[in-house]
Amino acid sequence: MGNDICDIAIVGCGPAGLSAAVNASIRRKSVNLFGGELCAPKLQKSAVVNNYLGSPEVSGEILREKFLEHARSMNIPVTRLIINSVTQNSKGGFTLQAADASYDARAVIIATGVTVDKLIEGERDFIGKGVGYCATCDGPLFEGKDVAVVAYTAEGVEDANFLKDICRKVYFVSSDNKLFSGLKSGIEAIEAKSVQAVTGGGSVDGLRIDGRDLAVQGVFIYRETYLPDTLLPGLAVRENHVQVDRELKTNIEGVFAAGDCTGKPYQLAKAVGEGQVAALNAVNYLDSIPG
Ligand SMILES: Cc1cc2nc3c(=O)[nH]c(=O)nc-3n(C[C@H](O)[C@H](O)[C@H](O)COP(=O)(O)OP(=O)(O)OC[C@H]3O[C@@H](n4cnc5c(N)ncnc54)[C@H](O)[C@@H]3O)c2cc1C
Repeated sequence: MGNDICDIAIVGCGPAGLSAAVNASIRRKSVNLFGGELCAPKLQKSAVVNNYLGSPEVSGEILREKFLEHARSMNIPVTRLIINSVTQNSKGGFTLQAADASYDARAVIIATGVTVDKLIEGERDFIGKGVGYCATCDGPLFEGKDVAVVAYTAEGVEDANFLKDICRKVYFVSSDNKLFSGLKSGIEAIEAKSVQAVTGGGSVDGLRIDGRDLAVQGVFIYRETYLPDTLLPGLAVRENHVQVDRELKTNIEGVFAAGDCTGKPYQLAKAVGEGQVAALNAVNYLDSIPG
């Protein structure tokens, strides 16, 4: 199990999440900020940022370090864990599930960014019917069955190894063959140029890659971020973005969203600004409900 209940859990430690954490902390709310191995990976990839007010021609990496240093200077820790699911709990708050731990919070800000990888044809149709994003959560449903792991990030390696102990056959499909060295023996690694479709009738029966069909009952997909409504079932989305109002409230009371995950423009200043607005409105929400 994880920590004691915090006021606001922030999922994603990019510019939006960091801005939300700083602003919520200034308003004296306890914050749990979650992120993967690297915070703000997009900023790191950005050679020069020239549209962030006050910092002309700055490298993305320098801005990233400044943002992290700001959070560190306020004693805001980053919990380096990917959150697999967020659910409403019986205490009127939310439970966030990571691989081996869960965390409770009174309010949540989703700041997970957007994935640059396109959805696979059929992926959305088979969510919960064979398509999954978390082997720890759904792997046991595939005991003795054949599954494929489609990995756009290194996180797929760990889950493929976990699935190897449960499933009859595990295929590991990625365009990045550097990931293959971390796989347990017995996993079939396939370097694929194109992951074309998840196929099936009522449930998954195959994965089409480079014109070849793998017969599998499960497909686990690992990208930089989850589709928001697979992270939090029932969350309203439009074209894979979280639907929010001007206060950055979602359709679920106590859940806010900020940054690229709410839609275009995918820009730093928007992410930082939305992080602040979401944090202040999450604070207002908490102040309006019984403690
Ligand atoms: C190459 C490049 C250059 C760019 N140049 C510019 C520029 O010059 N000017 C500009 O304004 N914008 C630029 N951008 C866009 C800018 O980087 C983004 O708009 C900004 O980073 C969005 O911030 P965000 O916090 O919403 O999302 P992100 O920066 O994507 O951060 C999301 C964070 O959430 C984490 N995360 C995701 N899912 C989970 C989960 N389930 N659990 C825990 N953590 C999770 C991720 O690991 C990541 O750290 C550029 C982007 C790229 C890729």
